[in-house]
Amino acid sequence: MHSTKHPIAIDDNVATLHLTSLHYGAPGSGKKVYIQAAIHADEVPAMLVAHLLRGRLDGLDAEGKIKGEIILVPAANPLGLSQVMHGAPFGRYDLSTGLNFNRAYRHAAEALKTALAGRLGADASANVALIREYARREVAAWEPADNAATLKKTLLGMAIDADIVLDLHCDNEALLHMYTGTPLVETIQPLADLMGARVLLVAKESGGEAFDEACSRLWWDLADHFPDATIPPSCAAVTVELRGEHDVSYAYAQQDADAIVQYLAHAGVLDIPAGSLPAPQCGPTPLDAVEPLAAPHAGVLVFHKKLGEQVAAGEPIADVVNPVSGQVTPVAASRAGLLFASTAHRHLLRGMHICKVAGAESFRSGDLLSS
Ligand SMILES: [Zn+2]
Repeated sequence: MHSTKHPIAIDDNVATLHLTSLHYGAPGSGKKVYIQAAIHADEVPAMLVAHLLRGRLDGLDAEGKIKGEIILVPAANPLGLSQVMHGAPFGRYDLSTGLNFNRAYRHAAEALKTALAGRLGADASANVALIREYARREVAAWEPADNAATLKKTLLGMAIDADIVLDLHCDNEALLHMYTGTPLVETIQPLADLMGARVLLVAKESGGEAFDEACSRLWWDLADHFPDATIPPSCAAVTVELRGEHDVSYAYAQQDADAIVQYLAHAGVLDIPAGSLPAPQCGPTPLDAVEPLAAPHAGVLVFHKKLGEQVAAGEPIADVVNPVSGQVTPVAASRAGLLFASTAHRHLLRGMHICKVAGAESFRSGDLLSS
């Protein structure tokens, strides 16, 4: 293993913040795996999983059991980690631009549609190699205008040509759930099973250019654009939400790190016995079947339902209690589904996020991710 320090925040040509990546195995010796934790900075469960994963990979590396290349970025957002406001960590948005650290990644497909015209054919592996070469070039040509963009370019530059990309996050309060591309369901379902995911959200395009999609959607965008060429979905990228921000324990992190090690064994990247897959706790759900609920007015949020409960259409999930006006408004989903994520706040202003319910039928359109 070797580690690399990438300069991120640069003032007067002096780097004041660095990103650290850990590199295992050898490039070109097998599949390439890229794993990053906590792009939203204060996603502590993800960092603890990365720490335990590092210990496992150090041991496997010493035994010569790593059959490809693995890059692990244990704390993917040094800029966000340095942002604290009045004692509270603030890692989701870049304070200098207001932008979400997991949006606006460069989507290489548009440039590649022009650059690769007439150059792709029936040979899938030749196409994959050529697309990766051009995608690396496209990310390298990105000229970041600020430190957050430098961070995004640095992360994407390590992941854009990977076979497997695991982007480890957490929610405010949530069951373990995942986001991936619809064409990747078969490849990601074993990871969902191993991690005991309760919801696997899928979309061909979520909107907002999140990190995992910048790595994966490239492939089906090009396949749609070049229908005569053979272009398999060659990057299995997934966003994993490791429960809620306070679900920090060695027990959870050990379980999650073990599941990832098992997934890499199944994928042939680790030369260790791959155990059998546990029974799935969920199948794929269309991302546009998720109903986000928001506060109808300011007030105290009181839940009737717990995470993991099935709720019926119109059944009150929570009340919003305004202690000033005395108004109490029950909040319900318009469709039945699983209550899988909620805010960690218990007093809300009008329009603030309350919770998400995963239904079965698609009904939303447009940008499907929260800002
Ligand atoms: Zn996140």
